Amino acid sequence: MTNLTHLTLAEALKGLENKDFTSVEITQAHLDAMESMRHLNAYVIETPEIALAQAKASDDRRAKGNAGPLDGAPISVKDVFCTKEVQTTASSHILEGFIPKYESTVTQNIFNDGVVMLGKTNMDEFAMGASTTTSYFGNTINPWKNKSDPGKDLVPGGSSGGSAASVAARMALGSLGSDTNGSIRQPSSFCGITGIKPTYGRCSRWGIVAFASSLDQAGVFGRTVEDCALLLKSVCGHDPKDSTSAKIDVPDWPKLLSSNQGVKGLRIGIPKEFRVDGMPDEIEKIWQQGIDWLKDEGAEIVDISLPHSTYSVPAYYIIAPAEASSNLARYDGVRYGLREDGEDLIETYEKTRAAGFGDEVKRRIMIGTYVLSAGYYDAYYIKAQKIRRLIVEDFQKAFEKCDALLAPTSPSVAFPIGEKLDDPVKMYLEDVFTSPASLAGLPGMSVPAGLNADGLPLGLQIIGRQWDEEMVLRVGAAVEKAANFSAIPEMVDTKLAA
Ligand code: GLN
Repeated sequence: MTNLTHLTLAEALKGLENKDFTSVEITQAHLDAMESMRHLNAYVIETPEIALAQAKASDDRRAKGNAGPLDGAPISVKDVFCTKEVQTTASSHILEGFIPKYESTVTQNIFNDGVVMLGKTNMDEFAMGASTTTSYFGNTINPWKNKSDPGKDLVPGGSSGGSAASVAARMALGSLGSDTNGSIRQPSSFCGITGIKPTYGRCSRWGIVAFASSLDQAGVFGRTVEDCALLLKSVCGHDPKDSTSAKIDVPDWPKLLSSNQGVKGLRIGIPKEFRVDGMPDEIEKIWQQGIDWLKDEGAEIVDISLPHSTYSVPAYYIIAPAEASSNLARYDGVRYGLREDGEDLIETYEKTRAAGFGDEVKRRIMIGTYVLSAGYYDAYYIKAQKIRRLIVEDFQKAFEKCDALLAPTSPSVAFPIGEKLDDPVKMYLEDVFTSPASLAGLPGMSVPAGLNADGLPLGLQIIGRQWDEEMVLRVGAAVEKAANFSAIPEMVDTKLAA
């Protein structure tokens, strides 16, 4: 039998439908892969009992002809989503032992469609980071190795690094993640997989551990654009429990994608401000390669300008910490997870928060509290909000001239674990290409486009108009076809062949 963990989600669904194998079989194959790849620390918790029970139930449904659109497919879930009766920590010590009594809307949506949950994946604490090194549960290791320096473990990107590693290492057919500013796109790029963040408001934030509410958005990882379309359709939709989720129909993206329209006649915008100083040659080259591919397929390439995008990283690092400082005020040692008792209530708060939050989270709470303080609110927070508005308007103008944007996903490939940790600003600059779309609430996707000279994956980013995920997927499919990316991390092959 073909190795079941190497199938795409679409292929696995076909195999299940044709009764080539059962959900229990494909689920067990993934549980075995998880065991053999445990050293990557992609999962915070594995949930084999739940997975096998869900798989069995799925096989029963299928036998009765009641299978849902994703029935029996095993996937992983970022530990930022509250899962009923399953510990949910957002990789923070402060939430250790927190067992939600409810299910997040997006996980409920995929379960309603028949998905099997393999476990909860590792992430940067409270989704703050770009490397999955701020997790209380230790870093995740990227399954890819730098050929020139194979002894060094690399980061999988972040914050959804566990999700991306789980999909790249064939420990899940796909994954649910969240993207506040790049946390799906950048790890997809680092791990050689595909990931899409839909328009802000496309799916419910209900039951997602909040970081920056005006930016947080659920999204999905897959090994192909088609797999992303399948998962995305399942997670999206209006939810009366989240007033920021939009009452707007969810298109049948997999079907639209299967009509294979190509990019002929489309106008693809190239934002000139993304040609940042010091951009590595390999990033510049892959971007040019992407432009050439789309041109060869008949797209028209247009130069566009997003003049305020150069301020998007500083604006984001004011707005996101401001919202985080408010959202994280709820962790007081009384209601969730960890509690460190003090002499009185105030001391209990202080001791709990001192012990429960890691350094990066504390840094952001302090920055956020500062920029919201009476004396500095106008100078920082209000100014950042004004910049955000200007960035939204820049995109609106750009989209008069083009249908989608093509850009690099990240200014670097996967870097060694520990690098950039002593300099938060260096880490924040990882977000240079992802923050404009996040601040504007636009859909964005990363598609693997090739390997660099050291054998590490490089991603290209496609950004679309508000609600136009269809265009993002369509352009993404064209990049995917041209790139024909089929590389697999070496360790996956050798381990599974053994
Ligand atoms: N790099 C971003 C940050 O550190 C990632 C945020 C996200 O998308 N969760 O805030």
